[in-house]
Amino acid sequence: MDMLIGGKHISSDDLEDVTNPYDGTVIDTVPIAHRQTADLAIQEANNAKYDLFEMSAFKVSNKLFNVVEKLKENREDFAKLLTLEVGKPINESLVELDRSIETLKLAAEEAKRIHGESVPLDAGLNGKGFFAFTQRLPLGVVAAITPFNYPLNLTIHKIAPAIACKNAVIIKPPTQAPLTVMKFAELLNEEFPDGIVNTVTGYGSEVGDYLVTSADVNKISFTGSVTTGLMISQKAGMKKVTLELGGNDPVVVLKDADIEKAVRGVINGAFLNAGQVCMGVKRIIVEDDISKEFAEKLVEETEKLVMGNPLDKSTTLGTLISEKAAIQVEETVNNAVQKGAKILSGGHRDGAFYEATVIDDVTTDMDLVVNETFGPVAPIIHVNSVEEAIKVANDTDYGLQAGVFTNDYYNAMRCAQEIEAGTVFVNKQSTFRTDNMPFGGFKNSGVGKEGIKYAVEEMTKTKLIGLNLR
Ligand code: NAD
Repeated sequence: MDMLIGGKHISSDDLEDVTNPYDGTVIDTVPIAHRQTADLAIQEANNAKYDLFEMSAFKVSNKLFNVVEKLKENREDFAKLLTLEVGKPINESLVELDRSIETLKLAAEEAKRIHGESVPLDAGLNGKGFFAFTQRLPLGVVAAITPFNYPLNLTIHKIAPAIACKNAVIIKPPTQAPLTVMKFAELLNEEFPDGIVNTVTGYGSEVGDYLVTSADVNKISFTGSVTTGLMISQKAGMKKVTLELGGNDPVVVLKDADIEKAVRGVINGAFLNAGQVCMGVKRIIVEDDISKEFAEKLVEETEKLVMGNPLDKSTTLGTLISEKAAIQVEETVNNAVQKGAKILSGGHRDGAFYEATVIDDVTTDMDLVVNETFGPVAPIIHVNSVEEAIKVANDTDYGLQAGVFTNDYYNAMRCAQEIEAGTVFVNKQSTFRTDNMPFGGFKNSGVGKEGIKYAVEEMTKTKLIGLNLR
């Protein structure tokens, strides 16, 4: 598939294969672009941004709604492509499509609600006789750099609000899974002037870095790993940056919890998309009194998962993004076992597949829970009190989301208030998200919020216009 720059299809002498992690077949190729191509995209976006600025909010909103309809019509095709390039079960890809449609719809609605406010200057010293109001203006050009795990919905979380508030966009899709995003960019381009939507494929370290350091890009909206995010924050200079980074999310299960509900939450949270979810359940902190019963029920439910061809509707556990990624998970689990952890279920790898794995007696010094493990692993850590649970939950550099299962109102509120994370859910796992909620972590999990309305705030600048009425 070619890149889309200034409304034209552009390729390159160097091409990269996009492979299906399930069977290693080549699905398509994409250009490996270099700096000159990224520069061309920046120029085209800067030329086109005025065309969008001139458009009424009414028209922008309608055009986004038109794209919603087109995405709905092509839902099945997009889902299939997503499964082929990411290896996630087709039912999960269909859910990503439904969420993508919803995110786009929220942006189409938000396009009509972008406004400033009146400001009472006469409340300030010497302000008598002045009237002022603010406007929220587009920044200009927004670069969206996105990861492989939810490539479509996470890209739409950036480019839909960016366009809703009249910015031109340049998309740097994930290297491993660029196709769904590139196909979606074509749909957007049918509605908007050439140059408003551009895609640049290639390596993050070259084209991504060029976008990050360019003075002609006004905002970087990045989702990906902490390592890349930190690098971007150091290089971006005087431009706005939103960083949605990794997570090491805890789920706390207290002794009075509804164990079945907690188990269902953990199954979804730890094994969804083969555990490759930023807000996936990565540490299960369980009060000792119920840990045996909890672990037994968790194993029972884990063993019901069906690993197989991701295109098969009965598959509930697909591959990881690559065999290399699966090997990394395997090594991390084996390392925890050497240090005393016990595998209760799973623990085997086959190519890019890694079994859904429940591992008990995990301690807080094991790499498995110190770093973000991006795979289908449910590590259980035992604690003896709510105080200890909160301490363990906070013993991490990350702070994306968290969940606590309890029927005790006081302990629920205590955990919700004391766990350092952007979101804490009571009686729900960390993996829950609706696409309109403010989403974004504390600590190394990032800077800024997404969730359409909140993304718009980060993709506009506020101008004050003051009138001297005397
Ligand atoms: P990654 O950081 O390796 O890559 C993300 C994107 O950054 C890719 O498009 C990549 O090409 C680009 N990139 C790489 N080096 C770059 C550079 N030097 N300059 C600019 N761009 C560069 O992440 P990944 O492996 O694709 O994704 C997994 C990570 O993403 C996990 O840590 C996961 O938790 C995180 N994630 C976070 C969220 C969130 O919303 N907080 C959502 C999904 C995934």
